[in-house]
Amino acid sequence: MLNYMKQSLLRQFAFIMIILVAFIILGSLGLGVAFYSEQQTFIIERDDLLDKQSKITEIEEHFTEMLFRGRGYTAFQSETELEQLYIEAKKLEQVITSLEMSELTSEEAYFIKEITDFTFYYLNELMPQRIVLVEAGDYDGLRDLSEQGSTAAINQILSTAHDFANEMDEKLIMKNEEFINKLNQVSIIFLLYLLFVLACIGFAIRKVVKEIGYPLQALSKATLQVKAGEHVNFVETDRQDEIGTLSKSFEEMVRSLQVKEEELTAQNEELMAQQDELTGQQEQLQDLLYISESQKKKLELNNQVISTLSTTLNKHELLQEIVTTVSEIFHCDKAMLVLLNENRDYEVIGVSSSQAENFIHWMDNGVTIKLGQTKKLFVTKRESHLAEQGYHDERSFSYDLFAPIMRADGELIAIYTATRVGQSFLPHELDEHTMIMNQISLSLDKIFLYEEAEQNRLLNQDIIDNVNEGILLVDNSGSIIQINRVLSQVMGIDSVSHLLQLPFEEWIGKLGNVPEEFIHFLTDTLRHQTDAVMTYRYEISHPKHHVFDIYGQAIFRNDEKIGTLFVQRDITVEHEIDQMKSELVSTVSHELRTPLASILGFTELMITKNLKQERQAKYLETIHKEAKRLTNLINDFLDLQRMESGNQTYQKESLQVVHVLQQVVDLFQVQHPDRKISIKNEVKEPYIIADEEKLIQLFTNLISNAIKFSPNGGNIDISVDVVNSQLRIAIHDEGLGIPRSEIPNLFQKFYRIDNSDRRKIGGTGLGLAICKEIVQAHHGTISVSSEQGKGSTFTMQFPLAKEDRPIANELDSMSDLPKLVILEDDNSLAMLLKEQLNETGFHVIHEKDGEQALKTIEQAKPDAVVIDIMLQNSIDGWSVIEKLKENPVTKDIPIIVSSALDEKERGLGAGAKHYLTKPYPPNQLSTVILQTLVTRKKDGKILLPKETE
Ligand code: ADP
Repeated sequence: MLNYMKQSLLRQFAFIMIILVAFIILGSLGLGVAFYSEQQTFIIERDDLLDKQSKITEIEEHFTEMLFRGRGYTAFQSETELEQLYIEAKKLEQVITSLEMSELTSEEAYFIKEITDFTFYYLNELMPQRIVLVEAGDYDGLRDLSEQGSTAAINQILSTAHDFANEMDEKLIMKNEEFINKLNQVSIIFLLYLLFVLACIGFAIRKVVKEIGYPLQALSKATLQVKAGEHVNFVETDRQDEIGTLSKSFEEMVRSLQVKEEELTAQNEELMAQQDELTGQQEQLQDLLYISESQKKKLELNNQVISTLSTTLNKHELLQEIVTTVSEIFHCDKAMLVLLNENRDYEVIGVSSSQAENFIHWMDNGVTIKLGQTKKLFVTKRESHLAEQGYHDERSFSYDLFAPIMRADGELIAIYTATRVGQSFLPHELDEHTMIMNQISLSLDKIFLYEEAEQNRLLNQDIIDNVNEGILLVDNSGSIIQINRVLSQVMGIDSVSHLLQLPFEEWIGKLGNVPEEFIHFLTDTLRHQTDAVMTYRYEISHPKHHVFDIYGQAIFRNDEKIGTLFVQRDITVEHEIDQMKSELVSTVSHELRTPLASILGFTELMITKNLKQERQAKYLETIHKEAKRLTNLINDFLDLQRMESGNQTYQKESLQVVHVLQQVVDLFQVQHPDRKISIKNEVKEPYIIADEEKLIQLFTNLISNAIKFSPNGGNIDISVDVVNSQLRIAIHDEGLGIPRSEIPNLFQKFYRIDNSDRRKIGGTGLGLAICKEIVQAHHGTISVSSEQGKGSTFTMQFPLAKEDRPIANELDSMSDLPKLVILEDDNSLAMLLKEQLNETGFHVIHEKDGEQALKTIEQAKPDAVVIDIMLQNSIDGWSVIEKLKENPVTKDIPIIVSSALDEKERGLGAGAKHYLTKPYPPNQLSTVILQTLVTRKKDGKILLPKETE
C-alpha cells in the first residue's frame, strides 16, 4: 500500500486532501453536535426552572392572598373575604398539584410539604377556630389565638415561601452562568480544533512544496541550463512518482540531446563542407540563370516583335515597333529602319530627323549598294563622336550595324541600321539579327500587299464613288458587300464603311421614304437565280422630287450566284427635260399656232375675197401685229436658248443705269399714257458694268409685265438705291400679285401662272427666265416679293462699278484681239457697227461723248478709232481728231471717219486714214479697218483679227 502511494504524487496529494477534508468535516460535526446538545439541555433545564419559579411565585401569591383574606375576614368579619379565602385556597391547591407533577428536588418537595401542611393546618384548624371566634365576636379570643402563635406561624411560612422564591431566582441565574461557562469551553475547543486544522493544511502545503515545487524548480533550472547549453548536474533520486519519472526522463532526454548534439555538430561540420561546395555550384547556377534569363528576355522581346509583326497593318506603327523592339533586344543606342519604297518611309529611335534624312540621302551611294550585292549584314567600327561619348573623356568606339531586309526573291526592300557605343556585336547577335530581319521581311511583304490591296480598294471605291449612279453589291443574304457614296448618301450616311456588312433588313430601313413596291423589287431581285436584269422606276417627293431608275442583276462566279448588283440612276433631270420638252412643244405650238392661224386666215381672206381698201388695211395691220408677236416669241426663245447655252455675248461697258431705265420708261409711257410710271433715284452716279442692250431687254420685260399684270391700272414705281455697295433697282406695281406658292417656280422658262384672271393676258412664260439669265450674266440677283391682289415688287441687285469709267478693267478683261473705239452718238447705228465688227473679230468700245472718247483712247490705246463728226451734247469729231493727233500717245492710232457729212478731204487732211460717208453697208467699215491694219505695222506685228468661226 505504501509503495502504491509512493508511486504517484497525485495519489499522495489526494490522500492527504481526503484525510484533511474528512477530519475537518468530522471535527466540525462533533463540535456542532456537542454544542447543540448542551444548548438543548440548558434550554430544557432553564424552562423547567422558569416553570417551577412561576408556579412557586403563584403559590406564594395565592398563599399570601389566602392569608390576607383570612386576616380580612377576621378583621372585618366579612363573609365575602371568607369566600375569597377558600377560592384562593382552591387555586393554591391546584398550583401545588400541578407543581407536584413535575420532577422535584428534595428542597422543593420539602417546601411543598411545608406549605401543604400549613395550609391544611390553617384551613382545618386555625380558620375554624377563628370563624367560631369571629362569629362569636370574641375579639379577645382572636387576639389570644394570634398571640398563641398563629400569627408567628403565618409570618414564618410567608418568609419561607418568599425565601424559596428568591432561591429559585438564584438557581436560574446560576443555571445561566453554568451555560455560559459551557459555551466558553466549547469555543476554546473549537479554537484548538481550528489551529489543528491549520497545522494540517500547513503540513500539506509544505509537503507539496517539498515534493513538487523544489523538484520542478530544479528541473526548470536544468531546462534553462540545457537551453543555454550549460552542463547539468543531476542528483540521483529514488522517487517513484511523477516527479521521479519526469526527472529521470529529463535526465535521459538531456543526455540523449547531448549525444544528438554531438552527432549534429559532426553532421553540421560535414554540411558546412557540403554548403561550401553548394555555394560554388550555386554561383555557377546563378551565372547560368542570368544567361537563361537574358535569353528569356530576348525570347520575350522576340515574341513581342513577332506579335507586332503579326498584328499591325499600319506601316509606321510597324516600323516604329520594329526599331524600338529590336534595338532594345540588342541594347543598341540608336536605330533606324528605312523602306526602299518611293517615299523612303522610315522610323528611328535615338536619331534626329535631320540625321535620318542625311542617311537616306547618302545611303543609295554606299550602304544600299553593298547590302544589295552582299545580301548580308555588316558591322563597321568607328571612333565615337562627341554626342555619343557623352560625359566620358576617354576615347571610345561605336559599332554601326547595317542589315538588309530582303523579299523571298532576294530583292532588297528595307535597311535596318543600329549603333552600339563602346560594345561590339557578338557573332550570335549577328545571327539573331539575321533571323529577325527575315521575319520583318515577311511582315513588310504583308504590309506592302495590304497597302496594294488597300490602294486598289480605295481606287475601286473612288471609281464607284465618282460615278453618278448609285451602286450596291449585296451577298446572297442581302448584306452589303460594296456600296458607293451616292447610294450611301441616299441612306443618309456619309461614310461608306459604316454600311459595309449591314444586313438587308437594316439598310432597307435606312432607305426612308421609298414606295412599298421598291422594297418588293429589291426582295424579288435578291431571290432571282438567273442573270436576267430586273428594272424598276420610282419617284420620291421628299426632301426633293427625284426620279430614279434602278436595275438589279444576279452575279455569278463559276455558275454559282455570289450576290446581286443594284445600279440606281437619278434621272430627275432627264425626266424633267422630257416633261419640259413636251410642255415646250405644246406651249410653242400653241403660241405659234395662234398668231399663224390669224395670219393665215386674214391672208386667205385677202386672197380669196375682193376687199375694200380700209378692210385690207385693217387686216394687214392685224397680220403685221401677229407677225410681230410671232417674231417676239421666236426672238425670246432664241435669246433664252443662246443665254442658256452660254453663247450669248455681252458688250459690257460702264453704264448709268438710270439713263437706260429712263429710256425704257419713256417708251412705255408713250405707249401707255394712262399709266403713271415713275423713277425715284437716290444714287448720284449709279454706274454698273453692263450690256446696255440686255439691260433694256431686262427692264422692258419687267415693266411690260408690271403693266400687263395690272389690268385694273395702278402706278408703277421704280426705285434705284445702293444697299451693301450694290445697286438695287426695284420695280413695283399695284397689279394682280403672285400667289406665294408660285414664287419659287416663277423664273423657270415657260412657267406661267394658270388662273382665270390671267388667262386673257398673253405671254410665253419666257420673259422672267430671260431676266434671270441677264441678271446672272451681270453678276447680279433678282427676287420677287408679292401680295396677291395688291401688287408685286421685282428687285434686282448689281455690283457697282468701282470707278465711274473702269475702262482699264474692261480692257484688261479683253483678250489680245485687236481693239477698236467707236465714237458714235446714235445708239442703233453704234450697235449695228459693233455687232458687225464683233463678228469680224474685233473688240469694240463704244463711246457717245467726245471728251470721254479721248480719255478712253488714251487709256486703251486701241488699234484703230472710228469717229462720227456730228455729236450731240459733245465736242465734235473734228476736235477729237485734232486732240488725238496732238497727243503723242494717240497720234499714231489710225482714224476712220464715219460721218453723214461729205467732207472726205477735210477728214483725210486732219489725219484720218479713211473717210466713210453714211449710209454705207456695215461690212464696209470692217473691210476698211482690216485694210488699215494690214498695211500698218505696230510694234513689228501686223494685227489681224482671228478668223471668226
Ligand atoms: P409671260 O409674261 O410671258 O407670261 P413671264 O416669264 O414674264 O412670262 O412671267 C411668268 C409669269 O409670272 C406670268 O405668266 C405671270 O403670271 C407672272 N408675273 C410676272 N410678272 C408679274 C407681275 N408683275 N405681276 C403679277 N404676275 C406676274
